[in-house]
Amino acid sequence: MPKSIDATSYYQATATPFPAHPPLAGDVSTDVCVIGAGFTGLSAALELAKAGYRVVVLEAERVGHGASGRNGGQICTGFSSGQAKIAAQLGKADARKCFDLAQESKQLIVNRITDHKIDCDLQWGYLHAIPKPHQMKELVDWKEEYDALGYTDTSILTKQELEDKLGTRLYHGALREGGAGHFHPLNYCLGLARAAIEAGAVIHEGSRVLSVETGSTPSATTAKGTVKAKFMVIAGNAYLGRTVPTLLGKVMPVGSYIIATEPLGENRARALIRDNEAVANTNFIVDYFRLTKDTRMLFGGRASYSTLEPPNLGAYMRPRMTAVFPQLRDAQIAYAWGGFIAITANRIPDCGRLSPTTYYAHGYSGQGVALAGLYGKLMAEAIRGTAERFDLLARIKHLPFPGGPIRTPMLVAAMLYYRVRDALS
Ligand SMILES: Cc1cc2nc3c(=O)[nH]c(=O)nc-3n(C[C@H](O)[C@H](O)[C@H](O)COP(=O)(O)OP(=O)(O)OC[C@H]3O[C@@H](n4cnc5c(N)ncnc54)[C@H](O)[C@@H]3O)c2cc1C
Repeated sequence: MPKSIDATSYYQATATPFPAHPPLAGDVSTDVCVIGAGFTGLSAALELAKAGYRVVVLEAERVGHGASGRNGGQICTGFSSGQAKIAAQLGKADARKCFDLAQESKQLIVNRITDHKIDCDLQWGYLHAIPKPHQMKELVDWKEEYDALGYTDTSILTKQELEDKLGTRLYHGALREGGAGHFHPLNYCLGLARAAIEAGAVIHEGSRVLSVETGSTPSATTAKGTVKAKFMVIAGNAYLGRTVPTLLGKVMPVGSYIIATEPLGENRARALIRDNEAVANTNFIVDYFRLTKDTRMLFGGRASYSTLEPPNLGAYMRPRMTAVFPQLRDAQIAYAWGGFIAITANRIPDCGRLSPTTYYAHGYSGQGVALAGLYGKLMAEAIRGTAERFDLLARIKHLPFPGGPIRTPMLVAAMLYYRVRDALS
């Protein structure tokens, strides 16, 4: 299982207090056992606990330890793969239903923040910035696609309009979305956990599941106990490692890294991103950045398919940031951290059942802040007896990644290919 860089992140440093929850001790019977306390697992736990199910969540480390407590906080639209790959498998009408579900995933965040009073700095507005002038055509096509799907809160910005908003001359235009944005992901995740506990779920931290039985009475065993349940939800994503061997080849962990500067002050920060929107470039190996509530530049990117940690993360990431904002050359890097994204071969999330009682969802491919909550909710819906929406997404087929000794070298080679492609495109 990949090990995440544990340097204190900006999110940990600004997390709302959340008491430790003791590890599982002994044997327990319950209705639903959830493995993993990230957005996926907690979303399922919350829905099921609200519906009256007895729910036990087993988390190897702490709530939000995985990607959910480490990500860029960018609330994105749709699927990382784009619509065409989904339409190629499901047909246009069902692909449209998938897009509608993805739209619902963003509203789900809004509803939960409101319903459970989660303080997590939610901010709308998103810019997809193009590094090359000829990519303007892609933005126009993208907008037309969104319009056709009924998502019209978007506009195209010229280079000049973008430069009025951003303190950089690097980009040649952007697609602006009003219906995407950013927030503090760890505080949202802790808020979900609190809501699930209030609804009756029990969370055990420090409870790594070592083995899973997926039969008619599924069970999960840790070093100190076993949970037997009527249903199981597996939500370990990139951090699941070899816990469930049948899921191993379905996703690949990819390292992504983030730095946060010292607070820049309101004026300096707004000279970089005038309207406090989230920003990402349109490269395959994407740079993503935004301001924090306390006026830091939070800048993410890079990708490591080898799962090896770069030795000095701050120094490794800084040139990426100063290429966009040379004016931050002297800004101190206050925090640097990394985490693992789970990608699938086609960049569409993978979900399904390992048996009639055991559900899983993972592989949001770098775009799971909104989608993970949705997939958790749909697994809960299916367990409660309405599986139509879950089954729509579960129909999407996935090719496994190659296993064995060629697994990592092949992905490093793929990575190099995409870097060269980004540079040449
Ligand atoms: C650095 C980074 C930046 C990202 N930026 C963005 C972004 O800006 N926008 C976006 O949309 N997406 C982004 N993502 C992706 C997004 O964060 C994820 O898709 C999403 O958080 C996945 O949620 P999850 O609950 O499925 O998995 P996770 O949050 O990874 O949770 C899985 C949990 O399961 C636990 N676990 C694993 N195995 C076991 C076991 N055997 N026993 C018990 N517990 C176990 C782990 O400890 C972990 O807490 C980013 C990811 C990373 C790493």
